[in-house]
Amino acid sequence: MEYKGYSSYRQDLLDGTTSVVRVVEELLARIDQQSDLNCFLEVFAPDARARATVIDKKIERGNAGKLAGMVIALKDNLCYQDHKLSASSKILEGFQSLFSATAVQRLLDEDAILIGRTNCDEFAMGSSNEFSAFGPVLNPLDKTRVPGGSSGGSAAAVAAGLCHVALGSDTGGSIRQPASFTGTWGLKPTYGRVSRHGLIAYASSFDQIGPFTQNAEDAARVMEVISGSDAFDSTCSEREVQVFSDEYLDYDRSKPKRFAVLDSVLQHPGLQKEVRETYAQLIDGLREKGHQVDTVEFPYLDELVPIYYLLTTAEASSNLARFDGVHYGYRAEDTQELEEIHKRSRTEGFGPEVKRRIMMGTFVLSAGYYDAYYGKAQKARRMVRDHTEKLLENYDFLLTPTSPHEAFPIGRESSDPTVMYLEDIFTVLANITGLPALSIPFGRGASGLPLGMQLTTSAWQEGNLLGMAEQFKELRDVPKT
Ligand code: GLN
Repeated sequence: MEYKGYSSYRQDLLDGTTSVVRVVEELLARIDQQSDLNCFLEVFAPDARARATVIDKKIERGNAGKLAGMVIALKDNLCYQDHKLSASSKILEGFQSLFSATAVQRLLDEDAILIGRTNCDEFAMGSSNEFSAFGPVLNPLDKTRVPGGSSGGSAAAVAAGLCHVALGSDTGGSIRQPASFTGTWGLKPTYGRVSRHGLIAYASSFDQIGPFTQNAEDAARVMEVISGSDAFDSTCSEREVQVFSDEYLDYDRSKPKRFAVLDSVLQHPGLQKEVRETYAQLIDGLREKGHQVDTVEFPYLDELVPIYYLLTTAEASSNLARFDGVHYGYRAEDTQELEEIHKRSRTEGFGPEVKRRIMMGTFVLSAGYYDAYYGKAQKARRMVRDHTEKLLENYDFLLTPTSPHEAFPIGRESSDPTVMYLEDIFTVLANITGLPALSIPFGRGASGLPLGMQLTTSAWQEGNLLGMAEQFKELRDVPKT
C-alpha cells in the first residue's frame, strides 16, 4: 500500500484497512528486495515484528501513541538500547549500546517501529556515503550515483520507500544534502532543539538530530516528539516545544513574506545551470505569490567551509579520543603495552577520512597554531552568526539551493577531500549559526535527478519552515523565464 503521510496511514490503521503487522512485513520484504542499495547495516526484523503486534493491539484498544505504527530507520550513530552501533566504523566492532538516545526513546514511547540502522559516512564525516567501512550506499533513483552524505542510508531508505521516516544527524549538511540528492525532505533543527544524548558526537557544538521524510507533515509530527529539554543534555533548550503539526498547517502563507537571496550564492561559479534556473524559477514563483524576494549582500560565503572544517575537526579530534582500543569495540590483536594498544587499534580501526580529520583537528588545537586557526575560526563563527541574525531581523527566510548540483556519480569526488568539502558550501551556514534549515525537493538537475531548495529561518521557528515550504508545491509548474 502506498504511503501518503502519517495521518492518512493512521486513519487506515483505525479503520482496519491495514495493520502495523502487515505494513512491517511489506517493508521488510522491500528492504530485502532492495538490499543492493546497502542502506541498512542491520535490520531489526524480530524486534519490529514483535512491536508491530503489540502496537496493533494498542490501536484496537485506543491507547496507541502519537506515532503508532510509523516505521522509522535510525542512522547508525544513534544509540538504541541492546542493539549494535558502529557509526559505520570498524573501530566500534562488536559494540552494543547500553541505553537509548533520548530522541530514540521518545519515538519508542510514542509507539513508532524502529526497523533498522542505516549506513552512513564513518562518524558522519563525508558528503557521499563513500567513507563507510561497510561500502557505499547507492542512490535508489540512479544506482551509479551517490545518495549524498553523511546520512546517505537514511535518505536512500526513505526515498526507496523502505521505511516511512528516518532519523539522521546534521553537523554541516548531513541531513539536507542527502535529502536534496534523493528527493526527500530533510530538516536540521535549531541547535538545542533536539537532545544530543545518545548521538555519537562528531562536533558537539554543530551536531543536531533531525528527520528525513516524504512530506512536511511527517517532519512536523516527528519533530514534535523528539524535541524538548532533556536532563542528559545541558545544551538542549528548555523552551516549550510548539505543536509543529498544527503550526505548519496554520502558517499564514497568504500573508506576504520576506525572502533574502544571498548575492554570493547567486553568483557562485559552481552552480549547475539547472540549479541556477530552478532557483530563479522559485524566486519568480514566490514573487508572483506576492512575496518579497531581495538579493542581499553576504560577504562570507568563501569563509564558511574553512570555518566549518577548522572548528569541526578540532571538536572531532577531542570527541574521538575515547575510541582507544580499551573502552569500546575494536582492539588490535597481539598488543601488550597501553600505548601500543591505542596506536594500533586506532590505526587499524579508523578509516582514512576520520584519520585525516583527527590529525587536522589536533594540529589546529596545538599550542603554536591555536590562535592562528582555532581561535580565529571561533571569532569568524561569531561574525558570521551576528551577520546572519541581523539579516533575519529584516527577513523571514534565507533562500538558497541545498547543494550546487544534483547527485554525482560514485567515485567522482572521493579521492580529493578539497572537492568533497566544497559540497557543503550552502549547508554549513545553518550549523555555524545554529539556525534551523530545511531542504525541500524542488526541480530537477541536468540528468533528471531531484534538486533541493533550502530555507533557513530564525531560531526555534521550525514550524514556519515547514509551513512555508508547503507553498512550494504550488510553484512547481511555474514556466521558465
Ligand atoms: N559533509 C560534512 C562533513 O563531511 C557534513 C557532515 C555532517 O553533517 N555530519 O563534515
